Amino acid sequence: MNIAIDGPAGAGKSTIAKRLAAKIGFVYLDTGAMYRAVALKMHNENIPLDDAAEAERILQETSVVVRYEDGTQKILLDGVDVSDAIREHFVSQAASAVSALPCVRLKMVELQRAAARDANVILDGRDIGTFVLPDAERKFFLTASIEERAKRRYEELCAKGATCSLEAIREDIRVRDYNDTHRTLAPLRKAEDAVEIDTTAMSVEQVVESMMWYIEE
Ligand code: C5P
Repeated sequence: MNIAIDGPAGAGKSTIAKRLAAKIGFVYLDTGAMYRAVALKMHNENIPLDDAAEAERILQETSVVVRYEDGTQKILLDGVDVSDAIREHFVSQAASAVSALPCVRLKMVELQRAAARDANVILDGRDIGTFVLPDAERKFFLTASIEERAKRRYEELCAKGATCSLEAIREDIRVRDYNDTHRTLAPLRKAEDAVEIDTTAMSVEQVVESMMWYIEE
């Protein structure tokens, strides 16, 4: 069985997907981490983020592997654990640009579909229910107001000791939402058969509970 969770940046997808996966014993795959790894590689190789030809070339010699250690997802880029590095702010912005390149998307989608073939998985991303796994048994589309999403990200970063501005985070989310909804291949949108949950005024537990209800049904 496959479960697809899509939605805009900062809607709580990964937190919720992790909890849900632990609760029902599914494997969780964070597809955003894969785009982040490719973005990091292009950054490290000084490749312009919109250079499709160079991206295609570099992808042939790049390995992106998702591995689980004690239930935690690790992302390996060419054999090196980049799980922390891909969370840097510049990588978020770079991933948003790089993920618009069809050659990058098609390669990542191939890996994501292969992972979904082998196990019961929960995939979170932007195009899971519409493009990666259109036949997923359950699909969710999580949203929240942009103010709430920016506030959550801000609090998460502050808790890690980072200095950041709420306004800058809000703008970053706005730009990423725009890029994700306006790209040509597999843009962010709700699948027709997805259950939409507006999490603005909900706790993580409440969202998980309501998703469990739909899954058990
Ligand atoms: O989810 P996360 O913020 O880690 O994703 C990083 C970027 O990767 C997003 O801004 C989005 O542009 C891209 N992405 C995507 N398709 C997915 C997952 C992420 O285009 N399935």
